[in-house]
Amino acid sequence: MTNKELADLIFPNITKTIEDYEKLYPERNLKEGAKVVRFAPSPTGFMHIGNMMSATINYCLAKSSGGVFFLRNEDTDQARSVDGAIDFIHHILNYYHISPDEYEYDNKTVGNYGPYIQSERIEIYHTFIKHLIEIGRAYPCFLTPEELEEIREYQAKSKKRIGIYGRYAKYRYTSNDELAAKIKAGEKYVIRFRSEGDFNKKFIFEDLTQGKIEFPENDIDVPIMKSENLLPTYHFAHVVDDHLMRTTHVVRGNEWMSSVPLHYELFKAFGYKMPKYIHTSLILKKDEETGTIRKISKRKDPEALMFYYEDKGYPVIAVIDAVLTIANSNYEEWRTNNPDKPFYEFPFSPKKMSTSGALFDLDKLDNISKNYLSKMSASALYDEYLAWAKKHDENIASILTKYKDETIKFLNIERETKKPRKDYENYSSIFPKSWYMYDEEWNKDLTYEFGKINNKEEIINIMEEYLNNYYDSNDTQDEWFNKIKELAEKMGYASDMKAYKENPDNYKGNVADFTTVMRVVLTTKNMTPNLYDIMNILGKDRMLKRLEIFKANF
Ligand code: GLU
Repeated sequence: MTNKELADLIFPNITKTIEDYEKLYPERNLKEGAKVVRFAPSPTGFMHIGNMMSATINYCLAKSSGGVFFLRNEDTDQARSVDGAIDFIHHILNYYHISPDEYEYDNKTVGNYGPYIQSERIEIYHTFIKHLIEIGRAYPCFLTPEELEEIREYQAKSKKRIGIYGRYAKYRYTSNDELAAKIKAGEKYVIRFRSEGDFNKKFIFEDLTQGKIEFPENDIDVPIMKSENLLPTYHFAHVVDDHLMRTTHVVRGNEWMSSVPLHYELFKAFGYKMPKYIHTSLILKKDEETGTIRKISKRKDPEALMFYYEDKGYPVIAVIDAVLTIANSNYEEWRTNNPDKPFYEFPFSPKKMSTSGALFDLDKLDNISKNYLSKMSASALYDEYLAWAKKHDENIASILTKYKDETIKFLNIERETKKPRKDYENYSSIFPKSWYMYDEEWNKDLTYEFGKINNKEEIINIMEEYLNNYYDSNDTQDEWFNKIKELAEKMGYASDMKAYKENPDNYKGNVADFTTVMRVVLTTKNMTPNLYDIMNILGKDRMLKRLEIFKANF
């Protein structure tokens, strides 16, 4: 029996040839230097920060070169596929404005190089596998799970390399007639690649990040088609898809580096040029408990999954900046010099990517985010905060809607200045620092944080005197403060810090103690943004009401 006859027996319905597909998916007509890249997640889990880094790098590479960014759904591991994972990928790419140019989703295909879902490409894979069988570079293998386990145990025990190669690859030596007989008898099989490599020979591979690496040739006959669902393995699909989709640069996790010899041989078997590779580093973090640096974990670290950033309400651009900061060592400098440019104009350089691991640190994200949020106008911040609240906290959303003007005024305290306050790292951190501005929230927790002066009568005196005889909403901040000083002095508090320090015993306290009293009565907190602004936002009536509440509750 010829190879061609064996191939026909296995794939009787495959009538196309690999040349047909070559014509169907011609070289892309792009300008010189344009990069064709892809994000190729498997829906076996929810999108994590490592995926996000790959997707963002891909987007930068495509956009900064006038190329194409496509999304390929690598769903060949159907047993492990997770409900909702695909929807989440599309959601995240849209949410972060890193949407692919080509994709297939919701019964819609955009792009001429699809299908973009691997399980829909089965006929293509079978055509390519059939071709390999015809040219003698693939064969059916009938090793049972028990036989495979036996081989593995033997290899482990006798310290040999693990895998189906050389004499362990029993069926590579079996005649086509015998193979055909087994197929006809209905025996289960996988299709294996017939390697021609020599493990003792070396070749040089050039990774764009890690540089030249010497590898031994592959000599393992890996499965390229699984028996259960006749779908290809990752390795085979990678070669076929990235060739037909005309990928120029593969950005993928470092865990795939060890498969390079196999991919190298597979591309060679078809006579195709390999794309260029950027193997991205692992994402690391400092363990809070032990202080050691370890791999970020989807199980242990909530920030490993992309849900985290949206739930907390980090602004989109802050997350992107944080991811690119760990992806490329010169991103931070570029961002400082180009604060207003879109991130994708950054000339991503694979050489400037750490090879030992990218240390992700939430404090860094918080800093980036605080900085970014501090530069937004109060009303833009209000809009984003409200949009976040509408999705994550109905109570906050209704309060923000009711107190729109007050909220904007509050957010505007010491904002839109040269050195704006950096209070908030995300939208969820605003409410815990502003709830006291809203009467219905304020009533819920009346833990007054008084300092030196905590005598109820004295406090009431200060407040009544001030609110009834001094407060005027038309005062400038200077006028306001002068009045406070005047009253403080009148009531026995030093208005001048130097005088106070020289003779503290002459006074009940100083003007700072005095304003602390006001601040705490009005907000319960001893640290807030500018009290002058807070008073003006609350207005006299609400301040008097708060004084009554103080009287009744302290
Ligand atoms: N589906 C593979 C993964 O999620 C993709 C690797 C690649 O980008 O080639 O790990």
